[in-house]
Amino acid sequence: MGAETTEHSPIHIMFFPFMGHGHMIPMVDMAQLFASKGVKTTILTTPLNAPFIFKTIEKSKTHSNINIQTIMFPSVEEGLPDGCENFDSIPSPELVPVFFKRTELLQEGFEQQLSLQHPDCVVSDMFFTWTTDSTSKFDIPRIVFYGFSFFAMCAYECVRLYKPYENVSSDSESFVIPNLPSDIKMTRIQLIEYLNIGGWVERLTKFRESEEKSYGVVVNSFYELEKDYVDYFRKIMGRRAWHIGPLSLCNNDKEQIKYRGKQASIDDNEWKKWLDTKEANSVVYVSFGSVVNFPDSHLREITLGLEASGQQFIWVVKKSKKDGEEWLPEGFEKRIEGNGLIIRGWAPQVSILEHEAIGAFMTHCGWNSTLEGIAAGVPFITWPVSAEQLYNEKLVVDVLKIGVPVGVKRWCLFADIDDSIKWDAIEKTVRKILAKDEGAEERRNKVKELSRLARKAVEEGGSSDLDLDAFIVELSSLRG
Ligand code: UDP
Repeated sequence: MGAETTEHSPIHIMFFPFMGHGHMIPMVDMAQLFASKGVKTTILTTPLNAPFIFKTIEKSKTHSNINIQTIMFPSVEEGLPDGCENFDSIPSPELVPVFFKRTELLQEGFEQQLSLQHPDCVVSDMFFTWTTDSTSKFDIPRIVFYGFSFFAMCAYECVRLYKPYENVSSDSESFVIPNLPSDIKMTRIQLIEYLNIGGWVERLTKFRESEEKSYGVVVNSFYELEKDYVDYFRKIMGRRAWHIGPLSLCNNDKEQIKYRGKQASIDDNEWKKWLDTKEANSVVYVSFGSVVNFPDSHLREITLGLEASGQQFIWVVKKSKKDGEEWLPEGFEKRIEGNGLIIRGWAPQVSILEHEAIGAFMTHCGWNSTLEGIAAGVPFITWPVSAEQLYNEKLVVDVLKIGVPVGVKRWCLFADIDDSIKWDAIEKTVRKILAKDEGAEERRNKVKELSRLARKAVEEGGSSDLDLDAFIVELSSLRG
């Protein structure tokens, strides 16, 4: 269907993503999806982030319905270096709170845009909690985009309400999160709610308070993937929510997808030529998203584990040669030549995952990566680090049964404190996930079926497509 209109002008949605690739990528996909339905869309961002977005949509068929609007990222006297407008360019972890603080200075520019453009609705990132107040000043509904699964949002809520971590006496004693549709066992050091570091608990409280005052939540997920949790979120938690994903499937132009997020550091011909020589389901793709920056000691364990496994791999390392290569054992790349490919920098992740040679995905369980792996029908090795990633691991391993855990014990801020994962755990899980035995086959079959359902969900008349239409209709009705 096309966008509902009143007085002949199309519905106008303003998208305001947090400036980090894991947040910008799905929101830009989302803007393209709405634009394909005839909705007028504006993506609001800062000047240095605009080129990434422009490159991503430049050749898209929906380009003419998408406007990129910049607002200044005001500088402050101390703190971030010039040009640091994206989470992935923050030079050191101590500056993360400074970056968050500085995003609050976007409020003035945001309100100017609201006043000039008066969109029908704003979809803004969870980190921009203050957008609830701004939109209410202009009587514009705000929709929150967390970029989380329904499962994670339900888990957060039940942990907040019932505080199960208070009923155990040691870090290793596990408990079941009360009241969720399935029995999810965790330990207290897997929960930021217990560890309470880095200001995250206050941040979670702000997210919730701001969501309560918002109109609803839009979710990058699909009903068939986590229906018990979609129902729980809507019926038990009483939230207004629309599932419209997987968003990565909405951006399927082969030329355009190359620029998704950032320009890839490897030429398409190179990785494709390499993968084309491999058997189906025989290569593990290893990547930890756009933010996690493992210390050299972790990277070294990964080299040892991958080599010991004897399996083929593509590994994305967020470093360039000029950062130094202490993590790389001498002669490693020569030894693994033909068996392993290291991509330094940015990989065209969605395209690689879709290649039939990829048989597993070792991931930090960021929700975009998780959903991209599911959409591609690839089973997982889970290595969550922070944010809601430890909840996503539970969904993948315990609920969907499409992954094996590498054995993370603790929630970590910026990947720099938990060094408990050693090469032998990596070796074991890589062998296990790529095995040809019954367990591995079962995981593969399950995730392939989810991939089929994911594709169906975004087709015309599928569950996500219908929810998208329902959302547009509801927005039209608000015009009154
Ligand atoms: N990504 C990519 N190439 C890379 C690293 C990341 O295309 O080399 C994309 C990935 O496909 C996903 C996003 O960046 O869409 C990362 O989001 P996710 O939620 O998985 O993790 P985050 O980066 O937010 O921790």
